[in-house]
Amino acid sequence: MDFQKPRYTPMSRRRRIYEGKAKVLYEGPEPGTLIQHFKDDATAFNAKKHEVIEGKGVLNNRISEYVFQHLNDIGVPTHFIRRLNMREQLIREVEIIPLEVVVRNVAAGSLSQRLGIEEGTQLPRSIIEFYYKNDKLNDPMVSEEHITAFGWASPQEIDDIMALAIRVNDFLSGLFLGVGIRLVDFKMETGRLWENDMMRIVVADEISPDSCRLWDIKSNEKLDKDRFRRDLGGLVEAYTEVAKRLGIMGEGERPQGSGPVLVKS
Ligand code: UDP
Repeated sequence: MDFQKPRYTPMSRRRRIYEGKAKVLYEGPEPGTLIQHFKDDATAFNAKKHEVIEGKGVLNNRISEYVFQHLNDIGVPTHFIRRLNMREQLIREVEIIPLEVVVRNVAAGSLSQRLGIEEGTQLPRSIIEFYYKNDKLNDPMVSEEHITAFGWASPQEIDDIMALAIRVNDFLSGLFLGVGIRLVDFKMETGRLWENDMMRIVVADEISPDSCRLWDIKSNEKLDKDRFRRDLGGLVEAYTEVAKRLGIMGEGERPQGSGPVLVKS
């Protein structure tokens, strides 16, 4: 008998590579690819606060797809290949660099707390910060000296990461400004993509209202995960508003429901 391997492994038999707080990675249909699945889980303060918010994963999948597809289109390399369904996207497998790269345009959050600068103060220029991705240590802030001394990234790679961060910030600032939203700050992750013997740094993970601070320009209303962190409520409504303004979700389209259900193994 001739057993043809299906192009897509059924959900139940898919190998789970990694499960994080808000996403799961499964093996992809081809070598060098993965499937990134967006869950509805919301966490903050290093997962000390946790809730399941129905519809969040669907919205982040769509918003992140929109951002990554446009980054690819303007020549900013990313891990994104294409969206597969309501909750999943096909991505290239990369070697994640263990740094959270934060770009800030306006003072907020930890910067305001640490340096005593009032939230909402425009910064004299965009500021890039690095945090070491390590939950046990609470993702501590690190300097370029730490990054190179401990071998997390080389000086050349740090230069490449900073150049990417600036391009992503410029793109996102313009994108959101065009729909009446101020990009206060955001976090991005990067990875090493190997193509034969060549390696380049690409933008990885997700860029969504979970990882950005987005304020309505007129009202200063928060349209991001601070609604959850600060118990403001209305998170799905806020993310839906971002999606609508970007033209991703039509009027009346609901983020809830459908899409594959996460299979627990
Ligand atoms: N951020 C993130 N994941 C983290 C920490 C921060 O996506 O683990 C994002 C956050 O949403 C904000 C930016 O990075 O857009 C800067 O966050 P900040 O350092 O102010 O930390 P926070 O106030 O969230 O603790």
